[in-house]
Amino acid sequence: MRVDVDVTEIELEGDHTTIPGLAVECSRCGHVVEVYGTSGASERRGCAMLREDCPYGESNFYGDEAGLAQCKAERDSRWRW
Ligand SMILES: [Zn+2]
Repeated sequence: MRVDVDVTEIELEGDHTTIPGLAVECSRCGHVVEVYGTSGASERRGCAMLREDCPYGESNFYGDEAGLAQCKAERDSRWRW
């Protein structure tokens, strides 16, 4: 099934300053993941993390499916924070 997410801009702790980021919340169970950056790619990354982390997320799609495909490609290229 498709699950909507709530995306909120937040400030994350950096080494010496705060870094803009996003909190992506599963609308179904309230599980939240935090990602660095506020771009569309960051949002898609958060959606992919929800898909892995949400207790209900095994077969769910978060956000739009095209974004998820790109997210998976980014993860497969071993992108790191
Ligand atoms: Zn959830």
